[in-house]
Order: sequence, then structure tokens, then C-alpha cells
Amino acid sequence: MSNLSSVAAVLRSLQTAQAVSKDIREAGFLGNKDDLRRSLADLSGSVSEAKMQLTLLQEVLAGKDQEIQKLHLALAYRGNMRRRGDGYYKTQDGRPYGQPYCSYCWEHEQKTIHLHNKILSKEVRVCGHCKNEYQAARTPYIEADVLV
Ligand SMILES: [Zn+2]
Repeated sequence: MSNLSSVAAVLRSLQTAQAVSKDIREAGFLGNKDDLRRSLADLSGSVSEAKMQLTLLQEVLAGKDQEIQKLHLALAYRGNMRRRGDGYYKTQDGRPYGQPYCSYCWEHEQKTIHLHNKILSKEVRVCGHCKNEYQAARTPYIEADVLV
């Protein structure tokens, strides 16, 4: 179900609830007890339906917030990332420094995942996310001090 149709479904449930409450109000206490009971059940059902749909929409919104945060971070990094060897680095005055980020993850998903040394190996670095391996010599740690 798309978000717009979810919103429409919530509005429909609330409209039903409103119509049922109006019927109950207009019938006063003169109406048939069975009718009243049925109307109250309809009312309760419509409200429950609306609550459930709102809960689903809340999850959708939380997902969108996360996505926005991720894109915001990627945008902030974008102008500040530079490829060197097989890795990406943050830059200072246009020069790369620090620990390398996985180039696959950066180029495909704009994710900044640091590479780490493979266990028992000084020659191989690995990305904890996509598991791609890189030669340590082509993805060195670059001291920021060296640049100054
Ligand atoms: Zn990766």
C-alpha cells in the first residue's frame, strides 16, 4: 500500500467513525439497543483500524527520517571525499588524510565504511560491510600531520 493510500485509508476510517458517532448521537437513547451495540462496535472497529494504519505510517516516516539523515551525511561528505589508491579519504585543504573508506560502499551507496586490517594479515584490508578486500599498500593510513 502506498503512503497516500494509507493516509486515505486513515481518513476513511475516521470518517466512518464520525458518521457512526453522529448516528448514535441522533438516535439518543431511544434507539434499539441492538442497533446501538452494533453502532458502537462499528465505531470501535473504525478507530482501531485508524490506529493500526497510523502505526504503519509512523514506521514509514521513521524510515524516511533515517533515509534523509543518510543522504544528508552523504551530501556533507561528498565535497570532502577524495579517492586515492583504492580507497576514499576525507580531505583537508583538498588533501586526503586519515583511515581509508571502502570505495565500493562509497561509490555504490554513499556509505562511509572504514577498512580494517584482515585478521592475521598486514597486507589485506577488508570492508566490514561489503566484505571487499583491498591491498593495504593501496589503501594506507595517511597522517594528517604529514600534510601540514
Ligand atoms: Zn564496502
